[in-house]
Formats: sequence, structure tokens, C-alpha cells
Amino acid sequence: MRVSGWLGCFVVAAVMLMMFFPMALFPQKSDHDTLLSGIASGKTRVLDLTYAINDKLVPWPGDKRWFEAQVNATVKKNGYFTRSFWMLEHYGTHLDAPIHFPPGKATVDQIPAKQFFGPAVVLDVSEEGAKDADYQAPASRVEQWERKNGRILEGSIVLLRTGWSSRWRDAQKYRNQDAQGKMHFPGFSAEAAKLLISRKVSGIGCDTLSVDYGASQDFAVHHLVLGAGLYQLENLADLSGLPEARAFLVVAPIKLEGGSGGAVRVFAIWQ
Ligand SMILES: [Zn+2]
Repeated sequence: MRVSGWLGCFVVAAVMLMMFFPMALFPQKSDHDTLLSGIASGKTRVLDLTYAINDKLVPWPGDKRWFEAQVNATVKKNGYFTRSFWMLEHYGTHLDAPIHFPPGKATVDQIPAKQFFGPAVVLDVSEEGAKDADYQAPASRVEQWERKNGRILEGSIVLLRTGWSSRWRDAQKYRNQDAQGKMHFPGFSAEAAKLLISRKVSGIGCDTLSVDYGASQDFAVHHLVLGAGLYQLENLADLSGLPEARAFLVVAPIKLEGGSGGAVRVFAIWQ
């Protein structure tokens, strides 16, 4: 009896060691710890989804002035170099704050910082967009993504990849206006926007001038998405390198007090 008692103790101790010793030796690292620590080594990919700002980007039709920069000090004259600049809030790669369209309320500086970090959901509609410049991604396109990758997580940022960035250098092709001046490029449908709002995403974005399709007259997606307190990213740079799932986004807009939106720097990271 005594021997089997000792044996029992030994077995229990051995099992406990097996359970806990490996954890002490190899503390579990979360996926995101690995993602961040992999940046310096290059194991984590970093993609900048932002166009550099200058006076030659594609403005919204009708905008008369969009960007001006002037040199205020030069090294030769002053010993240092500075400039000042003026630009539209909605120019180049930019963020639309909820207050941009009613009934949205928050200005760009009031958006909670935690909404600027989230998993990237990439909806690729480049094939559909190439065939039909008035394509509006339906809710079923979102459901298709979910069937493949799982339900969209709360706090995700959903990007529509239309392939329109390949036209960015040619304003005429990018805006794609007809004889009446109406633009033609793909966008989200109102039904897709409603579904994404119900998934509690933080924001949506696109590689075109607007998250609404170009020919939209009522800007239904703007009203819905901004009205629900989400933000929008427009004129994102080339999204072709992004995986449909897996990437994580860092969205860093200018903290402009009272702003309806403004220039934004957007990074994607993934392994
Ligand atoms: Zn905008």
C-alpha cells in the first residue's frame, strides 16, 4: 500500500511537471507580440498604403485649390529649412470623420484612438470593377469573405480593392467622368455598408475617390457609415499586395481640431 501511495504521488507530480514545465520554459507569445517584434527583423511585412502629398494628386471634381506649399526658410539664408502648406481636408489619401456627412457627429480629433488599430478585411472586386465601372459591392460579397475567412471581427477595417490605383497617375482615368461630368468607379453598396455596420467594424476604405460608387448622387454609404460613427479612408494607395485576411492596419490621421477629416497615413502589417 505504502509503495503504491508513493507511486501515486510520483505520477501526480510527473503529470503536473509535464503540464506546467513547458509553459515556464516557453512562455506563450500572442500573435501580435510576434507581429510587432517581427518588424525590426523584417519577418513582419510593412506596407504603406498612403500616397505622398503634392500639388499633382487627383482632386474631387470642382475643387479649385487643393494644395500649396511654400518655403519659409532655407539653409543658405536661415541656417535651417522649413515650409508652410495649405491643403483641403479631403485630398490625397485621407480620412472622412463622422461629422463629414449627417448624422455623423465626431470630428477627426474626436475619433477614439483604439479605432485606428484593427484587422484588415480586404474585399477584392477588381475583376468586377474592370468589367463594370458602376459596380457596387453587394452584401453577398461580404458574406463570401466570411465563408472563407470567418465572421468579421469587431473593430476590423474593411478595404475595398477595386484596382483603381493603377489609374492614379492619370486624373481623367481615375475619375472616369462621362460627357455629363458624372464619375464612374466601383464602390460599396448601401446593403454591404449596413452589414459591415452590424459587424461593428471601425471603418471602411477604398482605393478610389469615394467609398460610394462614382455615379452616386445620394452618397448613401457616406450617410450610413459616418452616421453610425465609423470613419472612411479614401484614395488608399495600391492594395494589390495585401492578403484578403491576416493583415493588421494602423491608421494615423492628422489630429486636426474640429476637422471634417484630413490627411492620413495608413500602414498594413502581417506575416
Ligand atoms: Zn473624403
